[in-house]
Amino acid sequence: MSNDRDTVTRLPNAGGTCPTCGKPSVPRYRPFCSGRCSDIDLGRWLKESYRVETDEDPADPSEDERP
Ligand SMILES: [Zn+2]
Repeated sequence: MSNDRDTVTRLPNAGGTCPTCGKPSVPRYRPFCSGRCSDIDLGRWLKESYRVETDEDPADPSEDERP
């Protein structure tokens, strides 16, 4: 009985957690929990590209972390 295939098929993120905020992901927006989080992730990704040109970013609006 070596039925380990089920384990192999499971990806680390298969459980479904939003990479942006860590909430359970929604099938519609997978792997994110909402379209907004998807946008945020995309924005980050784009920023990374822009960062190559501008090394310093004094005013970062995305760093608004309030509890
Ligand atoms: Zn999210």
